[in-house]
Amino acid sequence: MKAYDGMYIDGSWRPAAGPDVIEVVDPADEQVIATVPAGTVEDVDAAVRAARAALPAWAATPPAERAARLTALRDALVARQDEIARTVTAELGAPPKLAQTVHAGLPVAVAGSYAELAAAYAFEERTGNSTVLHEPVGVVGAITPWNYPLHQIVAKVAPALAAGCTVVVKPAEDTPLTARLFAEAVHEAGVPAGVFNLVTGLGPVAGQALAEHPDVDLVSFTGSTAVGRRIGAIASGMVKRVALELGGKSANVILPSADLARAVNVGVANVMSNSGQTCSAWTRMLVHRDRYDEAVELAAAAAAKYGDRIGPLVNAGQRERVRGYIEKGVAEGARLVAGGPEAPREKGYFVSPTVLADVTPEMTVAQEEIFGPVLSVLRYDDEEDALRIANGTVYGLAGAVWAGDEAEAVAFARRMDTGQVDINGGSFNPLAPFGGYKQSGVGRELGVHGLTEYLQTKSLQF
Ligand code: NAD
Repeated sequence: MKAYDGMYIDGSWRPAAGPDVIEVVDPADEQVIATVPAGTVEDVDAAVRAARAALPAWAATPPAERAARLTALRDALVARQDEIARTVTAELGAPPKLAQTVHAGLPVAVAGSYAELAAAYAFEERTGNSTVLHEPVGVVGAITPWNYPLHQIVAKVAPALAAGCTVVVKPAEDTPLTARLFAEAVHEAGVPAGVFNLVTGLGPVAGQALAEHPDVDLVSFTGSTAVGRRIGAIASGMVKRVALELGGKSANVILPSADLARAVNVGVANVMSNSGQTCSAWTRMLVHRDRYDEAVELAAAAAAKYGDRIGPLVNAGQRERVRGYIEKGVAEGARLVAGGPEAPREKGYFVSPTVLADVTPEMTVAQEEIFGPVLSVLRYDDEEDALRIANGTVYGLAGAVWAGDEAEAVAFARRMDTGQVDINGGSFNPLAPFGGYKQSGVGRELGVHGLTEYLQTKSLQF
């Protein structure tokens, strides 16, 4: 067990103002592996002051130099890739291969993309007799969740730094060790003191203090809709910019002409990856009634094959929440065809890959985000019915459409109220804008759209 006592503020690790700590638990064996400081309002204030003081110089740093720091950051993340992957496995429970390729690998791609964008983006443009300057918004408060602990930090910090903003990050309680490794990488990359700061702490204490701080110009939050709503209210009350990446209940629409086996197998893999703890997961599979029984059989077989290959959930609370949803699904009339609420192992926060059939659109498991390895399979009568079901939740983060003909899938995707749609298994693109329609959020991350979130415009007339 390692007891860390510092937080990264103004370019160095300094002790927390208060004595409280947060225990970090390995969800695979329930052992405490480390403690980190539970930051207070004072720590947040020190970090925001450092970020404010560093802002003028960083905002005035030529974009090419900001790009050079981001390239160095990307390289530092590459050098630490194995350590990052091991740490994500230890505190989140992600299987080693997923930890290496996605949790440690994706942030390298995203940091690299913002190194390129910082160098290439036109921070000035002409329109008529005006020059429009794209200037940094200012000090950013970033509040991140545990499910993709490094990706969600990098998807905020890299574009913010590229834009010329300075940042204070408050990472999730469950995964602060990955955030600490990121701070070390930032330091190694030669990012000037105060440009990036890290305060570990509890959401309602350190997170809230950051969102409420009068010297924070933009709050970027990823996490639950309940907390996102509060943060949105705080930010609008103070007339701050806000970006919210919230939950999802994405639909995987399998049209009658699709390759059913492929669509179902890829769909199950999408849900089970990261033990179902993915906001954009396709947790509702929509199948035409004529092919429904076949699809359910395929899905149950695919889920059963996962067996031991998925990791645990992040903590005991999430496991109980997910088990509760499975029980509720069955109580409301869904048919359990794989997995179930029972604990598959004695130790660790594991839940078996679960498939619920005969799910109808109004059921709780078809409406609420479960955030676990649970797939609901729904039946539709025709395309209009499928569209109504697909669009029939408060969320709209992602989705998928499968059809024999790509144009047919695209025509359906155009009618979906959601921020991303993968066509016939199209792969994740770290440059494509990511974000929600409806209650899935406000704003976009990644690529050039993610960069512009951190910019504001000033027009000069000649
Ligand atoms: P959460 O929203 O409570 O936590 C996310 C972040 O917000 C953490 O850093 C947390 O410390 C912070 N936070 C919590 N309360 C706060 C407050 N009052 N003020 C400021 N910051 C605060 O999410 P959770 O409890 O870790 O997970 C609960 C559910 O949220 C999950 O089951 C899932 O449905 C959803 N979730 C979604 C995503 C996503 O990517 N969209 C990620 C994680 C969780």
